Amino acid sequence: MTSHPATIVPVPPPHYRGRLAPSPTGLLHIGHACTFWTAYQRTLLNNGVLILRDEDLDPQRSKPQYAEAMLEDLRWLGIRWQEGPDVGGKFSPYRQSQRREFYINAWRRLRDSGAIYPCTCSRKDLALAAAAPNDGDDEPMYPGHCRKSVGQSANYAVPAGVNWRFRVPDGETIQFLDQHQGPQSYVAGEDFGDFVVWRRDDVPAYQLAVVADDAAMQVTEVVRGTDLLKSTACQLLLIRALELPVPAYFHCDLVRDASGLRLAKRHDALSLRTLREQGQTPGHVLSRCSYSGC
Ligand SMILES: [Zn+2]
Repeated sequence: MTSHPATIVPVPPPHYRGRLAPSPTGLLHIGHACTFWTAYQRTLLNNGVLILRDEDLDPQRSKPQYAEAMLEDLRWLGIRWQEGPDVGGKFSPYRQSQRREFYINAWRRLRDSGAIYPCTCSRKDLALAAAAPNDGDDEPMYPGHCRKSVGQSANYAVPAGVNWRFRVPDGETIQFLDQHQGPQSYVAGEDFGDFVVWRRDDVPAYQLAVVADDAAMQVTEVVRGTDLLKSTACQLLLIRALELPVPAYFHCDLVRDASGLRLAKRHDALSLRTLREQGQTPGHVLSRCSYSGC
């Protein structure tokens, strides 16, 4: 057998696919505008394709009028996308409420491999156990009560009725290089516990839905706010358990007011609608993003 000299074949960079993933649970404000504008700019910079995905999973909080308003507000800002609920695309549907089969498939794989387990703890049990530290944004650290009862998963043909939790590898350090924030590191079981992937009320949790959708839609870079950095560590564990490709991550700084409070947390955070009615242009709005460093 003759050996050929190694041929260097230039590998084209993977075609960039970015996404905007707003939830129609309220009106978009400046913080959203800055993050979505960055996602748009990253896509343009990489000559890629931008996807708009309507994250309307929560039936209680999602409202059709907000879904319409967010598309309109994003267009008003000047953001354009090539795939989405309004324009279609090869990975349709682009509304999470219509993608249940993708999430059920992921749930089934995780159930079969033992990566997740059913948790029958009541809200009250969890509240009693919530003495563990948490920073207020996250679910309280789960104390692991139901993790011990193995072999229960096989009793469930469908996820409804209990919370399904991911069994995190206690003590393992999850590291990733954020494209904007630099190296990140979280310890499973210390920074976060067994997180919910499917809710008792039969709604897939955010973590599972975004991982399933980003993979199915072949997203190559996830742009979002730094409030989701820790979520990324959880999602990397899900990605590994589901054997999915790992996208790049770019977490934007959150827009804060003069006193340092996150805009999203302010009850009077101005919606893009209100700013627009006050006569502000997209340029005015976006100029407030510059100091966010994103
Ligand atoms: Zn439990």
